[in-house]
Formats: sequence, C-alpha cells, structure tokens
Amino acid sequence: MPDTTTPDTTTSKIKSKREEILSRMAEAAKRAERSPDEIYLVAISKVQPDSRVAAMLETGQIVFGENRVQEAQTRWTDTFASQRNGLELRLVGPLQSNKTDDAVALFDVIETVDREKLLKTLAKAKETAENFPRLFVQVNTGEEPQKSGLSPKDLPDFIKKMREEYKLVPEGLMCIPPQNEAPSPHFWLLKKLAAEVGVEKLSMGMSADFETAIEMGATSVRVGSALFGERDYS
Ligand SMILES: *Cc1c(COP(=O)(O)O)cnc(C)c1O
Repeated sequence: MPDTTTPDTTTSKIKSKREEILSRMAEAAKRAERSPDEIYLVAISKVQPDSRVAAMLETGQIVFGENRVQEAQTRWTDTFASQRNGLELRLVGPLQSNKTDDAVALFDVIETVDREKLLKTLAKAKETAENFPRLFVQVNTGEEPQKSGLSPKDLPDFIKKMREEYKLVPEGLMCIPPQNEAPSPHFWLLKKLAAEVGVEKLSMGMSADFETAIEMGATSVRVGSALFGERDYS
C-alpha cells in the first residue's frame, strides 16, 4: 500500500518542472508574438527511470520522444503499454534501416530521416503499415562529421527525391546544433531551409536553448533533463 499521507516527491517535482517549462515556453512565444498553442513540448524520456516517466504521464503530458527503438519498445509496448493509447511517440535518435519496420509500428513521428536507404525502407514499410508515421528530415546544420543528418546543401535534392520518387511526405525539419556553438545561427538556418523546400514544421531546441528556438520559429521543442532531471548513464 502506498503511503498516502506523504506527497509523492517524484510526482510533485516532475509536475512543477513541467509547469515551469510550459510557462517559459509561453513567455518565449509571447516575445516572438506567436501563439503558445502552436508549439509542442516533446518530453524526451530516454534513459529516464520508470518512476519519472510514470509521474510525467500523470501530469497529462502526451507527447514523448525517444532516441532508441529498442528502449522505446520496452517502455511503450511493455512497461507503459496500458497507457500508450492517446500518446504521441516521436523517434528523435538515429534509425538503422533494419529497424524501420519496428520504428514504423511504434512511432507516430520519425524525426530522423536522413538518407536514401531509409527512404527505401520507409516507402516499403508504408505499403503494409496500419498507421504510417509522419516524417521529419534531420539536417546536420553544423556539418559535423560524427553527427547524423543531411548536409544543408544536399537537402533540396533529398526532399525532391522523397516526394517524387518515394511518395513520402516531409512534414518538417529537425536539427541538433553543435554543442559548443551558439544555437541561433543553426535555428535560423533550419528555418530558412524549411522555407526553401516548402515544409512547415521545425523541431529544434532542447533543455538549454528551447526558448531561443521558440523565438526563432520552433513548432516543437525536445526537452529531456530540464523536465525529468539529469539522465543517469551509470
Ligand atoms: C537527448 C535528446 C534531447 C534532450 O536533451 P536535453 O538536453 O536533456 O533536453 C533532445 N533531442 C535529442 C535528439 C536528444 O537525443
């Protein structure tokens, strides 16, 4: 039996963190003269313990992001399977083409489409999928060799191929700016690229820079540690 006389510290902590982030998002939207209703908070639950995820679910948060297909499967088709209905799950980490079918079955949005091999496997999966996810293309705005994502110069051809050859719809663009640089030029570049290729949504901004991202046009922000607390990789 849980002790109902002491408040659940995890739940109340998570609830107040979420409220704080939502109000900072609203303030940033206001500064940019945007409606807060058009900007989604994606709670990045990767590596977080089940207790914190359970607490986050209790707050009414419905959009979650994960960066590994397998970890996400365990969490959302097993541990929290009974609460999966009505949630929106987004893959924000790299997708290996041999995991495409699993990712398509689990996620509502895949944010990390970044090479032709994936267009192939996604188009194939689409033929039989019951619910095919919405797709974002990841752009490596900092052109970092170790990072996934398309180089900005390759984006227009890729989007064209995606639409014409593979009949897939790019809903938005996603970027992760280099860690040791100011994020604004990267957010600005992503917005400019989105306008050039005619896609609407922008997934940009994390714990450290989501307000800047909102001021620069983000339609969703991916916040992990500032919402749940630090990740424990030990
Ligand atoms: C982990 C991760 C985040 C969240 O990072 P925080 O700094 O904890 O907010 C956002 N986006 C992606 C792609 C991630 O892998």
